[in-house]
Amino acid sequence: MPVRPLKEAISVDVAIVGAGISGAFMAHELSRDHSLAVLDRRPPLTGSTVASTALLQWEIDLPLTALAGKVGMAKAKRAWLRSRSAVDALKRIVAGERIVCGLKDKDTLYLAGDAYGHRALEAEAEAREAIGLESEYIGPEALRDRFGVDRTGAIVSRGSASGDPARLAAALLRRAQENGARVYSRVEVMEAASDPDGVTLLTDAGHAVRAKSVVFCCGYEFPRGVPTPGAEVISTWAMASKPRQRCPAWLRETLVWEASDPYLYFRMGGDGRLIVGGEDEATPDAHADQAKLKRKCETIVKKLHALLPGVEFEVDYSWAGAFGESATGLPSIAPVPDMEHAWAVMGFGGNGITYSVIASQVVSTALRGGVDPDADLYRP
Ligand SMILES: Cc1cc2nc3c(=O)[nH]c(=O)nc-3n(C[C@H](O)[C@H](O)[C@H](O)COP(=O)(O)OP(=O)(O)OC[C@H]3O[C@@H](n4cnc5c(N)ncnc54)[C@H](O)[C@@H]3O)c2cc1C
Repeated sequence: MPVRPLKEAISVDVAIVGAGISGAFMAHELSRDHSLAVLDRRPPLTGSTVASTALLQWEIDLPLTALAGKVGMAKAKRAWLRSRSAVDALKRIVAGERIVCGLKDKDTLYLAGDAYGHRALEAEAEAREAIGLESEYIGPEALRDRFGVDRTGAIVSRGSASGDPARLAAALLRRAQENGARVYSRVEVMEAASDPDGVTLLTDAGHAVRAKSVVFCCGYEFPRGVPTPGAEVISTWAMASKPRQRCPAWLRETLVWEASDPYLYFRMGGDGRLIVGGEDEATPDAHADQAKLKRKCETIVKKLHALLPGVEFEVDYSWAGAFGESATGLPSIAPVPDMEHAWAVMGFGGNGITYSVIASQVVSTALRGGVDPDADLYRP
């Protein structure tokens, strides 16, 4: 993707800080009717987007029943339904723009675990079905017969997906560029100052960017001066098998995760690799510890083997990354307090990419003068 250095002061309708999947969905949406500059201090797509295992799920980290306990049933329902429609919107964008990113429809298998057992999952499936979400509870016999997995119960859901997030984001940025957006890299935004007419961004290139609005899509590198109450950065680990991994046929069509803390999750990639992740730890920098990477991978392999004893998993490569968490698992998509014309997007939880889609919808509606009916769900 063509990028350019910032060689002079510029003025645009909207400046987007961050060229990851959130900045890419934002740019794709806003480039239809705004002049845009996307700025990144690294080459595009080298933040957390490239580390993502990209389970594109509408099932959010906190079960509907548990989220209801935190934010009330009415809001919890809206949050779940909104995630469902965001995954559909993602699929529509990929199809409409003819983006080649290995996008594939997948079911999900959510296994009973130490955080939520089979009774909780049965109640969860009922609550989801009551609002029209395609989730079905299955007991231990059906789980063994259909999936060969030994657990006390599970929920099978339809309508999620998987894909390659870096290819998806690159294609979205290219479409935005075709609409006139300019992508600047490497340019670090050092400071932002707003006034009644707009925002001025000071950059390490020595040139200012003037914009009517700015949207910070900085991933887990929270922008300076943007409060993030209740949010924390944690570490997570993932690994991939060699291509052509032998595995049960159902796994090609299914994303798997479990109701445990921390939870194990896995899926097949388009190239036949088995991608497995988990073992989250509540420290922001543990992901940089190489010795820990080895230990975490050993634990993940053991857990995978316990669940799928017939699958011989040989690690081809492994990696770790930072990850944002909030008390509700919901993202923060909100105006920056005390800074006019500025929004910040932080896609917390295991559904960061689904939230990137929602963020582009909420922010673009606001910048066009409207109010998204679910905007209140994502205010921290
Ligand atoms: C191991 C792992 C597995 C994951 N698995 C999943 C999954 O299965 N499903 C899912 O939906 N999500 C998953 N996620 C989360 C998902 O990847 C993230 O939510 C998503 O990538 C965030 O994208 P982003 O564009 O917001 O951030 P990023 O991709 O991190 O992009 C932010 C960009 O902002 C730039 N930036 C920051 N500050 C500045 C500044 N001051 N000036 C200029 N540029 C700046 C950075 O350089 C970076 O390029 C996973 C994450 C990890 C680490």
